[in-house]
Amino acid sequence: MVAPLRIRKRPTNRAFTQRVRPCGNRPAGFVHWRYKERDANIPYKRTVTLVARDWIPMDRLTKLSILADAAKYDASCASSGAAGRRSTPDAGLGSTTGAGICHSYAPDGRCISLLKILLTNFCVYDCQYCVNRRSSDIRRARFSVREVVELTLEFYRRNYIEGLFLSSGIIRSPDYTMEQIVEVARSLRTDHDFRGYIHLKTIPDASPSLIEAAGRYADRLSVNVELPSEAALTRLAPEKRMGPIKIAMADIRRHRDEAHEDRSAPPFAPAGQSTQMIVGADDSNDRVVLRTADVLYRSYRLRRVYYSAYSPIQAASPFLPAAAPPLLREHRLYQADWLLRRYGYGVDELLPAGGAGSLDLRIDPKLAWALAHPETFPVDVNAAPRELLLRIPGVGTRNVKRLLTLRQRQKIRYLDLRTLGCDLTRTAAFVVTVDYRPAETAALALRASTVLAPRQATLW
Ligand code: SF4
Repeated sequence: MVAPLRIRKRPTNRAFTQRVRPCGNRPAGFVHWRYKERDANIPYKRTVTLVARDWIPMDRLTKLSILADAAKYDASCASSGAAGRRSTPDAGLGSTTGAGICHSYAPDGRCISLLKILLTNFCVYDCQYCVNRRSSDIRRARFSVREVVELTLEFYRRNYIEGLFLSSGIIRSPDYTMEQIVEVARSLRTDHDFRGYIHLKTIPDASPSLIEAAGRYADRLSVNVELPSEAALTRLAPEKRMGPIKIAMADIRRHRDEAHEDRSAPPFAPAGQSTQMIVGADDSNDRVVLRTADVLYRSYRLRRVYYSAYSPIQAASPFLPAAAPPLLREHRLYQADWLLRRYGYGVDELLPAGGAGSLDLRIDPKLAWALAHPETFPVDVNAAPRELLLRIPGVGTRNVKRLLTLRQRQKIRYLDLRTLGCDLTRTAAFVVTVDYRPAETAALALRASTVLAPRQATLW
């Protein structure tokens, strides 16, 4: 039996939707849409991929629509940081580089060219924030290992995807579920010589030997920390504990370190590990969220922490909020996270103790810090050390690198900053060059035009 042409409909609930031509050499029938999020304050586009082909059997297609939809809440699926597995000169299948494969990343790191599915959305756990929880009244489906393997290979051969992101609800037991997940990766790698990217979601309560096996086949592993605090986890996910989650992360880190030290050992999750934290499902403020993320980065060398704004679900627990947090909060957390990892900021600098505890939604955290520390500015770009240059709003790590190179050859002038790609609307109030010094009131004027500018109140 053949399938109808569409798996999913055009997303109509977006403020702006535009059909775009298939990019690269994706075949006809691969339809995707770009849209802007409804919140106009978020200046980026995301791409939704809709697949329309007639080669998937109907029952498999139905399962695919259920299990791909169930996986959409999992944000931690970026493949950034993975080394390419080349398919040449061997006869292996798949490569994360070349071969006309299109990468579509949202700026927050989400990758949308993976086949992102759950093995099943049946689950014996009852996490209150999850649409797949035991008590949820939803359509259920389950793939066999063989079905996931075949779908991945078929999608890959048609150049729809560059890899697989596989997660699952927990069926029977954590070990049983993890065995199934590992078997998918094993079959792809060893039976089919699949060289594409594989990201497996690991189940914290599963046996360490299964997590070790997963790391041998996968490029990236992730263990979801789910919520920012142990108390929130106990209240909203009664079967989960922070302890086993951290032990699983520590195991992954240990195996990675061992593989790194012993060059002859097979690689272990070479793209590292990541996690996801749901934001807005409990009353933890941004300081708690970022502190938890900071500890995880330092303790387990995570590549990324993904922040996922809580989406209200049907028949939700009274412990959960009725409304979703603003998507902008998620965006600000990503910006702050970036500052922690790449710019040398500390959590206490961004959110000092005794302050509001949450990031200002009106301006980005770097600009907020600069406006709150007038004693640090203006910075002389011809003399300041790298650490201080990184603190200038509108100047990114790449700009700083170029600036340091250029100033070895010449004195930096104001227009050089534009040539270097700095965002002068934000930078101008905070820098001194050989031919420019900002007015004393420049930072105050910038503050007035960003923080204090009147905004149209929302009607809803
Ligand atoms: S274990 Fe995972 S799939 Fe199951 S209810 Fe909890 S979050 Fe959802």
